[in-house]
Amino acid sequence: MHYDDNRPDTYWSRAIILVDMNAFFCSVEQMDHPELQGRSIGITNGSQGTCIITSSYEARAYGVRTGIRLKEAQRLCPGFLQVPSHPERYAQISSRIMKALSRITPDMEIFSVDEAFLDVTHCQRLLGTPQQIARLVKQTVLEASGGVLCSVGASGDKTTAKYAAKLQKPNGLTLIPPGRARETLAKVPVTELCGIARGIGRYLAERGVYTCGDMRRLPIGEIGRRFGNPGRRIWLMTQGLDPDPAHTDVAAPKSIGHGKVMPPNTKNRSVIEVFLLHMTEKVAARLRLHHSLIAMEG
Ligand SMILES: [Mg+2]
Repeated sequence: MHYDDNRPDTYWSRAIILVDMNAFFCSVEQMDHPELQGRSIGITNGSQGTCIITSSYEARAYGVRTGIRLKEAQRLCPGFLQVPSHPERYAQISSRIMKALSRITPDMEIFSVDEAFLDVTHCQRLLGTPQQIARLVKQTVLEASGGVLCSVGASGDKTTAKYAAKLQKPNGLTLIPPGRARETLAKVPVTELCGIARGIGRYLAERGVYTCGDMRRLPIGEIGRRFGNPGRRIWLMTQGLDPDPAHTDVAAPKSIGHGKVMPPNTKNRSVIEVFLLHMTEKVAARLRLHHSLIAMEG
């Protein structure tokens, strides 16, 4: 075993993988309806829905975004196709994927209906380097789902792994060796990291902290005094040292929710409604997923 936290093709002292299914709802529709493959599609709530819940990469290329009106999507995107949502089908595919991933490692945290963290630190001897395990994860998702692609990020902590997964979409595989996490994040705005809200972003900006690299000028004790342990975690997250473990106890969540950032000063009622609808679909799919996971364990 050769351990080197500075290289992408070696074993690492800690290895976390984040897997994120690409345009998940649309990928399921395109898989179930081959005639939709390669087409610009957007999901609406039933066939009467007037707002876009989520769209395929082909449609995103034309500027179709979550929350816009169906009419606007049709105007932006030639050949745009409206597809009614099938939330139970999305939950079914999701639970098949999660079940298959949990056979790679039980140290897995289901983060949302289409995302999971895998702590593969302790299965490197069995399955290979994080790079090899990341390829196995992609193959597992493809086979378990029947055709859904995913983007995978790997690093030594959850925050950097999640950042890595965002860098190449769709169908990406991005490795940030743990020893390179701090320098890789240095130029990244703090608010781009998952879990750093705008409120804390403003607090940091008032202290001259815009990028993760700027954070080194702010003593960890100062943010700790203001925000407690979550503040200290944020400081560590920006340095590629997120201490948060993969939470495997999915069987008993205290709450199930979903968050989404709305465009600033949104006052349009129908836009607000579609954001609510999108979040409702996500929460409902998560509830169904959770239910089927309990059934799976039982
Ligand atoms: Mg996704």
